[in-house]
Amino acid sequence: MQKTQIRQWVAQHPLLQQMAALQPLTWFNPRATTLQAGLPHVGLSAEDVADAERRLARFAPYLSAAFPETRAAHGVIESELVAIPAMQQALNARYGLPLPGRLLLKKDSHLPISGSIKARGGIYEVLAHAEKLALAAGLLQVTDDYARLFSAPFPEFFGQYRIAVGSTGNLGMSIGIISARLGFNVSVHMSADAREWKKQTLRDNGVTVVEYAEDYGVAVEQGRRQAAGDPNCFFIDDENSKTLFLGYAVAGGRLKRQFEQQGIQVDAQHPLFVYLPCGVGGGPGGVAFGLKLAFGDHVHCIFAEPTHSPCMLLGVYSGLHDGIAVQDLGIDNHTAADGLAVGRASGFVGRAMERLLSGFYTLDDDEMFALLGILDEQEHIQLEPSALAGMAGPWRVAGHPAWLSERGLNAGDMARATHLVWATGGGMVPAVEMAKYLAAAQAAR
Ligand SMILES: *Cc1c(COP(=O)(O)O)cnc(C)c1O
Repeated sequence: MQKTQIRQWVAQHPLLQQMAALQPLTWFNPRATTLQAGLPHVGLSAEDVADAERRLARFAPYLSAAFPETRAAHGVIESELVAIPAMQQALNARYGLPLPGRLLLKKDSHLPISGSIKARGGIYEVLAHAEKLALAAGLLQVTDDYARLFSAPFPEFFGQYRIAVGSTGNLGMSIGIISARLGFNVSVHMSADAREWKKQTLRDNGVTVVEYAEDYGVAVEQGRRQAAGDPNCFFIDDENSKTLFLGYAVAGGRLKRQFEQQGIQVDAQHPLFVYLPCGVGGGPGGVAFGLKLAFGDHVHCIFAEPTHSPCMLLGVYSGLHDGIAVQDLGIDNHTAADGLAVGRASGFVGRAMERLLSGFYTLDDDEMFALLGILDEQEHIQLEPSALAGMAGPWRVAGHPAWLSERGLNAGDMARATHLVWATGGGMVPAVEMAKYLAAAQAAR
C-alpha cells in the first residue's frame, strides 16, 4: 500500500487514528461467525489436531527420558489451571467495575523445558521434523518406543542436519533447547529486543545464537535467507507454519479435560472467554483454533496486543493481514513486552482465524507492568510483561454490555461465565531480571 493511500485510509477510520496515536482500544470483530461457518476457512481440521496429539503421545517417552522435569507428567508438556480470586478483587477495584463470573489463569508461563507458550508449538514442530527424518531414513517406526531417540544412533544422525529460526526470544528458547537435545545443529536468529539471559541460556545449551540490532522481522528474514542456501537446513517459519499452529492447537482438548476434572462447565449458559497475548499470531491463533474445536460457539477468543505493536488487530481490521505493518501507521513497534514486539502479523493465521476471533484490544506497557506487580502481590505468581497482556481483557469485555447482549449473553450468563487469562511466559526469568520487572511494576502503579 502507498503512503498517501494509507494516510487517506487512516483519515477515514477513527479506530486507526486511535491506533496511530497509541491509545488503548477495544474492537469486537464484526466478521466473527459460528464455528461451522468459520471452520472451512481455516484450512485445517479436527483430524489434523488429533494427528498432532498422537505425535506428541509417541514422543512422550522421549521427553520423559530427555527432560526430567516432564517425568511426573509422563512426558506430556502441559500447564496448570488456577483460580486467581484475589487478583479479580484487586482488579475490580482498579478498573472500577466488578467482574461477574470467575477468573482463571492458564500457566503456560510455567510449562516445562522453556517456560512459555512456545513450549507447545516450537517443540512440537521440531519433534515432527525429527520424526519425519528418522522415519524416512528407516531408523524409526511409529510403533517404536521413542525413548530410543535419546541414544545412539539418533543424536549422531540428527547431527547431520541444521535447524534455524528467527525469534524475539521465547520461540528461540523452545526450538533451540529441544533441537540441541535431539542432536541437531541449531541456529537462533535473535532480534534486538531478545533478552541477554535468553541468549546465554541458549549458548549454555549448545545453540548458536545470531544477534541482530533490528526487530523480529529482520531476524526472521536473515534466518530464512541463510537456511535457503543449505538443503540440510530446516527453517522454522513462525509466520507461516501450520505444524507450529497445530502444536499450539492441542491445548484446546487438553483444557477441556482439565475443565472436566475441575467441574467447570462450558455451554450456552456458561460462556467461556479466553484472553490471549498476540505477537505474530501463531501461538494465540493455534490455541484459539483448538479452543473453538473443543468448545465451539461457547468460547469467545480475544487477542491482546501492546499499543506499540498492534499488528494482528491492524491486519484483521484492515483485511490486509501481512500486507500492512504497524510501522506503516508510524507506530514504532517498541515495547517491553518482548514476546509481542511484532510489527507485521502472520498472514496465514489472520486469514485462517479472522472469522473465529471475537475481539482484539490493546494496552500500554505501563498497564502490563502494573498488572505484573498486582499479580505478584495478590497471588504470588510471577510472569513476564507479555504474559500480562491478557489480564485486562475480562474488564474490557465487562465494559461492553452492548456487545454481550448482541451475542445473546445476559447478566445471568455472565454471572456463570469463566474468564481465562492465558499466561504465556515468565517461568524461566532469572531472579535478578524478575526483580527489575517488579521494580518497574512499582513505578507503573
Ligand atoms: C511468543 C509469545 C506470545 C505470542 O505468540 P505469537 O505466536 O508470537 O503470537 C505471547 N507471549 C509470550 C510470552 C510469547 O513468548
